[in-house]
Amino acid sequence: AKELGRNCFHFFTSSMQQASVERMRIAADLHTAIEEDQFELFYQPIVDMASGRIHKAEGLIRWHHPTRGMVSPVEFIGIAEDKGLIVDIGDRVFIKATDQVQRWRQLLPDFQISINKSPIQLKTNRTNHVDWIDHLRALGLPGDAIVVEITEGVLLDAQNRVTTRLEQLRNAGVQIAIDDFGTGYSSLAYINKFDINFVKIDQSFTRGLKPGASDLALCEAIIVMSHKLGMKVIAEGVETQLQHDLLAEAGCDYGQGYFYSKPLAVDDFDRLLEANRRS
Ligand code: C2E
Ligand code: CA
Ligand code: CA
Ligand code: CA
Repeated sequence: AKELGRNCFHFFTSSMQQASVERMRIAADLHTAIEEDQFELFYQPIVDMASGRIHKAEGLIRWHHPTRGMVSPVEFIGIAEDKGLIVDIGDRVFIKATDQVQRWRQLLPDFQISINKSPIQLKTNRTNHVDWIDHLRALGLPGDAIVVEITEGVLLDAQNRVTTRLEQLRNAGVQIAIDDFGTGYSSLAYINKFDINFVKIDQSFTRGLKPGASDLALCEAIIVMSHKLGMKVIAEGVETQLQHDLLAEAGCDYGQGYFYSKPLAVDDFDRLLEANRRS
């Protein structure tokens, strides 16, 4: 038993060491990735449930690693946040999204791209980052070409700097969405104190949608209340016709998920948009 215990311990530490070595490698590679701009944004359509039209998309980052291939954000965003690299990465995401939205707006003048903003980006006191409002102005884009997705937690421990940053974005017309709504501890009443445009129902609620299920009652309540408070609702993780139908019936404004499309590279999204415009 003693032998076994020691072996287990050994195994445990070495796998922990491996994990931290792996994190250090990724962190080191992220520096190069930023210098060489190895990132690409994929776009997932956000579909108007009543009309089937697409004039919104969420930009989701992908990393083309020279040897590992495509690395998912789940594997590197946390590390980028810990190492303070998320500010530079976030600025690149913003610049790619604004360039792209400018293109799509030539076809669809009200097109919007939403991007994810990490709490670290809102809290940073670095001053050498890209001024988003100046950048929008330089491109001649109205603020509402961009939606910034933040999580409930950002508002819950909102320090002055964070609320001021959000207010500056709002004043420039940029819209705000609450991502993964329902997984944190905030309420719609609390969120309503901030000027929020969209509530995104987390995919964990969408997953459990069946007639009569409690998740359906929850989604219906979120939709009714959000509308009363002047916010639009986007359901995330819509994978089936049934989920789409139940949400549309409940008055949900927009749906996002594999049922409509997975996140796509720009060329594929162009084709999807073209087909959607003709249909
Ligand atoms: P998120 O913001 O909640 O994005 C939605 C995630 O759900 C995406 O994963 C998307 O591909 C996936 N998804 C979409 N439809 C479905 C569906 O029907 N079923 C299921 N099971 N999943 C679906 P992805 O692209 O791997 O991104 C994961 C997370 O990484 C994002 O979650 C977001 O928190 C973060 N992330 C992605 N891009 C960025 C970025 O540019 N900046 C920051 N700070 N975080 C990002
Ligand atoms: Ca998001
Ligand atoms: Ca989400
Ligand atoms: Ca998420």
